[in-house]
Amino acid sequence: MVSPEDATLTIEFVPRPSNYPDARAFTAVAGGQAIAVVTTLRHPAGFRVHVDTASVPVAAGPEQLSALLRAVIAASRADQAPVVVLAAESSLRLRYYARAEGFTGPLRTDLTYDLRSPSKPAPVPGSGPAPGSGPAPVSEPAPGSGPAPGSEPAPGYATAPGSAPAERLVAQMRMLLPGVTVEAGRPPGAVRSFLRSASSGVDGTIHLRAQGPTDPQPLQVAVPLVDDIVAEGLALTIDTALDLRRRFRPLVDRVRVSYDHYAEGMRNGKILGAAAPGVRDIHLNPVYVVVPEMLAQENERQGRPAQRAPSPSVLPPFTQVDATVAHEYWHEIEFGLEGGRYHDSVEFRRAVGQYFGVETLEHAIKGNRPDAPPAWQRARLRLAQEVTAYATTAPKEATAELFRQWWCTATNPPPSAQYFGTVLRKFFPTADLDHRPHR
Ligand SMILES: [Zn+2]
Repeated sequence: MVSPEDATLTIEFVPRPSNYPDARAFTAVAGGQAIAVVTTLRHPAGFRVHVDTASVPVAAGPEQLSALLRAVIAASRADQAPVVVLAAESSLRLRYYARAEGFTGPLRTDLTYDLRSPSKPAPVPGSGPAPGSGPAPVSEPAPGSGPAPGSEPAPGYATAPGSAPAERLVAQMRMLLPGVTVEAGRPPGAVRSFLRSASSGVDGTIHLRAQGPTDPQPLQVAVPLVDDIVAEGLALTIDTALDLRRRFRPLVDRVRVSYDHYAEGMRNGKILGAAAPGVRDIHLNPVYVVVPEMLAQENERQGRPAQRAPSPSVLPPFTQVDATVAHEYWHEIEFGLEGGRYHDSVEFRRAVGQYFGVETLEHAIKGNRPDAPPAWQRARLRLAQEVTAYATTAPKEATAELFRQWWCTATNPPPSAQYFGTVLRKFFPTADLDHRPHR
């Protein structure tokens, strides 16, 4: 482990061929190890920097990422650029350290660092832990303040005494979610047992309630009680969940969200989310919000290049968090449809099946059976190619993957997503499916 005294790493930028004529590309090297591929583009206001931390053999640690960001800032300053723009598609873990270094910006957008302001970084709530706000928590990512997050990704996260993490998280949520009231506190009695069981495997849980001005009741969210929570991952979760609730009101108003290891397969990152519609719960993998788990997953993925992520990549302004939240919420929406309008739910799957050239969606799923008619086989193949392989595992996964695809398409939706949108409008005529602030 790098001691605080040794934490100042030297970053070397080694030029490499660029895929784009206007861009310059570098391999960022720290201590002889490649830690990222950095591409810079001239931007009207300075430099737009894309940092790819996924295509190097070993995931960069916290000190390395912080040092890399400081080196990018220093290089831009030397070039007299007024601002540094960090591309929106950067990983949540990189954005976490970028916010701690003084980059700012709303959810889902480029982050900027203003070189004209005083050089001292001014981390804002909504970044990582707030340096200088009292005794440094044990996992403070800022240099020289103690052991780094990610260095000991063991179960049973270290926590600061008292309620500091919860208060800090609430402040960060308020900053990242303008107009949303966020409070921490004990959940209502009926919810306590759910949250207790949901939080198994972690030391403790922070309970939040988030409510927009037009929401009839708050969204209940539980996250592990740890210091190094990526506030942005949690804010994305709340933002998308509230958005989905409003559009499909009141179908999913009572759904609760918990970051935990509810399902087998969540610890190794194979399962990113799980819905339990019968009890109105959604469980999400802490890999979206807990820094050590993010690092462990990156290392896992990078150590085994043949193994793909469970879901396809999602383009900005959407994120993988939005994709998973949308997928799991769809299970709850469809459950509500089946419970309240069973006949419509049958017709819904027939309508979706038509796009794939079969009578109903189930036929596409059964297209791998030895006696499956050619049309069923073709439908299954198209489902895998146009949506995802996971969509072929069950009719409910097909609709959830189609919903995720439709929800997370900003421009030029693929034909399958376009079609699914028209089916949604037909079966949910009162839902607000048009005005999409992120679209
Ligand atoms: Zn699913």
